[in-house]
Amino acid sequence: MFGFSLPKLIILALIIVGVWKGFKYLQRRQEVQDRDRHEKVRKAREETQGSADPVEDMQRCPVCGTYFSGKPGETCGQPDCKGRA
Ligand SMILES: [Zn+2]
Repeated sequence: MFGFSLPKLIILALIIVGVWKGFKYLQRRQEVQDRDRHEKVRKAREETQGSADPVEDMQRCPVCGTYFSGKPGETCGQPDCKGRA
């Protein structure tokens, strides 16, 4: 009958289950590694940023049109310009 005996089928089933379990294990390990890496990147980013927002809005000087980083009301920093954003 197809050359299969019950012990052979059992061994075959065990091999298939073993391979499947091994594959699941590797997949799970990969997921954990990915999560760890994301966590590390996120932590590193938080550490470099600190609590301050590193992104600053640029202000445009209404007189000379220069864009500068600073708060509204500060001067643009151009020598001949007294304009305030
Ligand atoms: Zn200006």
